[in-house]
Amino acid sequence: MQLYQNQDLKIYNSLSGKKETFTPINEGYIGMYVCGPTVYSNVHLGNVRTFMSFDIIFRYFKHLGYKVRYVRNITDAGHLENDADEGEDRIAKKARLEQIEPMEVVQMYTVDFHNTLNKFNFLPPSIEPTATGHIIEQIEIIKDILDKGFAYEINGSVYFDVLKFNETNNYGKLSGRNVEDLIHNTRALDGQSDKKNPQDFALWKKAEPQHIMRWPSPWSDGFPGWHLECTAMSTKYLGEQFDIHGGGMDLKFPHHECEIAQAEASNGVSPVNTWMHANMLTLNGQKMAKSTGNFILPNDFFTGENEHLSKPFSASVVRFFMLQAHYRSILDFSNDALLASEKGFNKLMDTINILPKLQVSNITTFDVEAWKTNCYNAMNDDFNTPILIAELFSAVKFINQVKDGKASVTQKDLEVLTKVIHDFVFDVLGLQNVDSCNDDGSEKLSDAVEVLIKMRAEARANKDFALSDKIRDELLAVGIQLKDGKDGTTFSTN
Ligand SMILES: [Zn+2]
Repeated sequence: MQLYQNQDLKIYNSLSGKKETFTPINEGYIGMYVCGPTVYSNVHLGNVRTFMSFDIIFRYFKHLGYKVRYVRNITDAGHLENDADEGEDRIAKKARLEQIEPMEVVQMYTVDFHNTLNKFNFLPPSIEPTATGHIIEQIEIIKDILDKGFAYEINGSVYFDVLKFNETNNYGKLSGRNVEDLIHNTRALDGQSDKKNPQDFALWKKAEPQHIMRWPSPWSDGFPGWHLECTAMSTKYLGEQFDIHGGGMDLKFPHHECEIAQAEASNGVSPVNTWMHANMLTLNGQKMAKSTGNFILPNDFFTGENEHLSKPFSASVVRFFMLQAHYRSILDFSNDALLASEKGFNKLMDTINILPKLQVSNITTFDVEAWKTNCYNAMNDDFNTPILIAELFSAVKFINQVKDGKASVTQKDLEVLTKVIHDFVFDVLGLQNVDSCNDDGSEKLSDAVEVLIKMRAEARANKDFALSDKIRDELLAVGIQLKDGKDGTTFSTN
């Protein structure tokens, strides 16, 4: 029996605008696709927040016992400077400016993306496919859409015919826009474009002679439209219909709307049951923007070198801070809010550290089972991490009362409490009890080394010199030197 069989999980579906009971297409299995980054610059904090929301969702599904295939792509071609299929390819432009190969740009920022996400303790997705690795699949989908009459070719480029599609389907159902409004609100074509109508979008673009990222196709040497890669990769790895598609709020239109249209035109079915969108973030109440100086890069937290920060913060503190807002709410960063989160985070970790030292008795003065249910209920209510954190803090309060002799807990309840806290704090929320940047970091290190010194003394007393030497050598390998003196063993760090 898996945990998910006892849970009533509800997820807000952007397509219906309602929270719905979640039932996967195949019992026990979940297919989830999340639009990944376009790797032409360092990952920004808004992306980190979006991917963190889906990291929590991925972690919770796994905790519930689901087998999850989580696909998050890397966009390494086809994403032009603006959404109207115009301008330079973002990666090619960066390559031109830096005078390097486009694939060097892709490699540099893919590595940066992975490094940054690793620092924040993200789980890797099950598959991380690239747009350039799926050109053949994209060409096949274009042929299919052309055959079905929902696209047209002009001068070597292929465009999706939105008006034709809308005769039989509903273009705009995700973003709540209707085609008539789009026609009124889209600026007229400037004569440069081959499109029949301005709301049409590119499936394939013929490459200009100077465009270096190009592939052969039945229509021209060119490159796929940005929206198409996600349809190709999600269909390939998750099937024509799958459970969850996620991304940032800004992708709802046109990107996700176009994905739905392409999939429906090609496969005849609506591709996704549940659409999920993570909200944006602000800094000191204002939109983050490089142009105004109102921004923080993810790595700035670790150095503290940013005019909006008074000191460095650990990745877990930043993660904890982000999870104190629901993924569908706007998250506002400020130094004061981070400092408050750091206090809360340290209190949570200190409390977890005292759990093994608590004295047990014959009664428990806290309803552990009800509290456990509340923790699950919080996550089952559209992944409500702020409510979950509030529940964790009611346990923190109780545990500290036990420590102070003002409350009591039985051995059995203490075991449940410890397990549930560990499950939620470390497995589901993905927090870590190690990389604290605060002043007691060195104190914790010295406590840990003292434990090893004691174990080594015991090993020597038992004549287990292999173990005692191993402890000494392995500490030395990480820069900690033990010194045996007549008053016992001390240590120094390099
Ligand atoms: Zn996408």
